Amino acid sequence: MHEANTDDQKFDVIVVGAGLGGLAAGAELALNNKKVLLLEKHESPGGYASSFVRGRFEFESSLHQIDSVGTVENPRPLGKFFMKLGLMPERLQFFKPREVYCSTFYDGKSYVLPFGFKEYEDALISYFPEEELQIRKFMKVLKQIGEGAHVGIKPLKLLVKYPWFVRVLGLKLDEFLGRFFTNRRIINVVSQLWGYVGQNPLDVNALMFCAMLHSYLVNGGWFPNLTSHNLSLLLATRIVELGGTVKYNALVDRILMDGDRVIGVELLNKEHYYADAVINNLNPRCTLQKMIPPEKVPKSYLRRVLAPSIGPSIFCVYLGVNRTPEQLGLSAYATFISTSDNIAEICLQSGLEETGLIVATCYNNIFPNISPPGTSVITLITIQMGKDWHSVPPQEYYSVKDKVANDLVSIFEKYLCPDIRQYIEVCETATPLTAYRYTKNLDGSIYGADSSVYNGPAFNLPHKSPIKSLYFCGAWIDGGGYSPNLAGGRIAAQRVLKDLKKGNIGGN
Ligand SMILES: Cc1cc2nc3c(=O)[nH]c(=O)nc-3n(C[C@H](O)[C@H](O)[C@H](O)COP(=O)(O)OP(=O)(O)OC[C@H]3O[C@@H](n4cnc5c(N)ncnc54)[C@H](O)[C@@H]3O)c2cc1C
Repeated sequence: MHEANTDDQKFDVIVVGAGLGGLAAGAELALNNKKVLLLEKHESPGGYASSFVRGRFEFESSLHQIDSVGTVENPRPLGKFFMKLGLMPERLQFFKPREVYCSTFYDGKSYVLPFGFKEYEDALISYFPEEELQIRKFMKVLKQIGEGAHVGIKPLKLLVKYPWFVRVLGLKLDEFLGRFFTNRRIINVVSQLWGYVGQNPLDVNALMFCAMLHSYLVNGGWFPNLTSHNLSLLLATRIVELGGTVKYNALVDRILMDGDRVIGVELLNKEHYYADAVINNLNPRCTLQKMIPPEKVPKSYLRRVLAPSIGPSIFCVYLGVNRTPEQLGLSAYATFISTSDNIAEICLQSGLEETGLIVATCYNNIFPNISPPGTSVITLITIQMGKDWHSVPPQEYYSVKDKVANDLVSIFEKYLCPDIRQYIEVCETATPLTAYRYTKNLDGSIYGADSSVYNGPAFNLPHKSPIKSLYFCGAWIDGGGYSPNLAGGRIAAQRVLKDLKKGNIGGN
């Protein structure tokens, strides 16, 4: 039996990892007066929700848009949480771009899609007037699916009031959109945000995609003042202000157990911390296989954790440019550039050899002061699978990385910004291996497990594990993304609070 020697080592709850899930869990617990310890291996919080500085530029590492924030007058669930924490609006402000996305194709055609359900429908009709009837039918169904997503597990209500929510289960996005449209271009424009789910329309779960698109249209898409690093830092600061403890450079190596119950953690430097419950923001595959003795992990649970495939990662090119967006002719915030209308072809091109789809984001178009006057910060990204980088020999890593970065810049140059190369002052790149090194997510996955039709939200792992006193949050539990992971961290914390109150913390 392990014992805490001092009061400094004993907490109500320990949260491992200060990604978005861990930060939200820590903040929710601190708000509820729990003595919480948040342990993070880096010297700063956020995981992917971070930023970095090169030359005179600060680059946003990941975020494009968070849904579910809303305004101070009309806050959505995340906005309400930030207000409850006393962060929004005084210390935390959010900005919304002009359009939900812009979609540009190899043939020079561009489609600007606005926020707002009606506005989006009108814009689609203006681009594809011959499809008006089908667009209206599709939008009705999208509404039903989006609203059904908030009903919870009530099969009868869903069947009666939101039948499309049920019908769409098990459908892939491309198949689903094919029930409304035959015109390939409109299907590609509507499914364009697949880049945000990370899974192409031939595989992605239509339900997940529709719920996301609906939420962006209805709730808006938001970006915090400065960068997501500021959001992460404010959450960590608030935990401390509310009486919690945040320790950086604290790599958790082992979960400590007494019999079949989790009682704390051991850091790499052998420091021990104890608590009534541990919430783990790390990927459960490594946690269960490396941090807990194998005999303590129920085999059926391990099988369930290992069942889904690992989700996609990302290749990023970060550009600091000595021209303004106006001078570069960039008016949109996030532009998806497709080099083909053939989705299967684009998917084949998402390896290291070729790139078929990129998202070009000009951050000055959402937060004008993100870079010094007269300059812009632009990010080019494409989805890649981390496993494709396994076969790159170490001595070729930098040349492959440079080649892929050059491919992305070439697409941007060819279809959106012809003179870009002469204005680049700073260029930094990140591969799936960078993502792995930074967060320790397997294969640098950015959304945890894959979001294919075989692994929808219905298969998400529970926040409370079958191992006593061990809870989970983060992308591998809640599906990836800012709002799911912030919401999921809170849900895990609320589960712990409920169990603590019932005195059932060690039970199942
Ligand atoms: C380039 C890019 C663009 C993206 N764009 C968007 C977007 O526009 N919208 C959106 O919603 N989502 C986006 N995402 C996805 C989103 O960022 C992630 O899904 C989300 O941040 C994952 O949060 P998480 O809670 O799982 O924590 P993670 O970010 O995975 O963080 C885990 C934390 O645990 C720490 N850690 C790991 N091991 C240990 C250990 N042993 N001990 C202590 N600490 C440890 C890590 O250092 C890290 O801080 C993007 C991601 C990337 C990379």
